[in-house]
Amino acid sequence: MDFAKITDNGRTGKGILFVLSSVSGGGKTTIINHLVRAIPDLRLSISHTTREPRSGERNGADYHFISEQEFTDMVDQEGFLEWAQVYGHRYGTSKSEVPGPGSGAKDVILDIDVQGGLQVRRKRPDAVLIFLLLPGEEEQEKRLRQRGTEAPEHLQKRIQAARGELATISEYDYAVINNELEGAVDAVRSIIVSERCRISRKAAPDHERED
Ligand code: 5GP
Repeated sequence: MDFAKITDNGRTGKGILFVLSSVSGGGKTTIINHLVRAIPDLRLSISHTTREPRSGERNGADYHFISEQEFTDMVDQEGFLEWAQVYGHRYGTSKSEVPGPGSGAKDVILDIDVQGGLQVRRKRPDAVLIFLLLPGEEEQEKRLRQRGTEAPEHLQKRIQAARGELATISEYDYAVINNELEGAVDAVRSIIVSERCRISRKAAPDHERED
């Protein structure tokens, strides 16, 4: 017997679906970038969005930047596993990005907001949901200001929204406090390594796996 088949993904040959969400400014993009470099066989899902690229962002690498009409067409064709309106723009994970039959054994991590996280929770009970937290609200405000990408009125909106986002945490499987980068990356890496050793996992419903 091949003992690698004792673990769930060894048996099914399918990758694990990870979701990383955080309150605004939580630092998840930085953490994910570190993770995908450090962990073999982990791929970052590239979302579709209707927002304009920021300077330095590349189409197909950071996001698939698409028009409102193209996004609507994808929604109508049921092309998304989940999608949400976040701060005035639409973002979605296309079904072709996530592990399913024929997608290979690579694990996939989604960098999505909590609305999307909750949709994944309902559709894919096999997914592993991780919530990244800052040590407190003050730290969060500081980080948003440092990032400098937000106009002051947007900044306030994001701080408000963070309170609602935090209320969804009970739907998640793990919480990681982002005190300092290395520790947080290490904690998320440990979760991923542990999940890869899992013997049994809730099954993904067939109708969601068939894409
Ligand atoms: P940003 O515009 O700063 O890149 O992203 C804004 C927010 O949208 C972040 O919280 C990010 O995680 C979230 N986001 C990015 N892609 C997706 C997606 O495909 N689905 C959902 N629900 N949220 C996303």
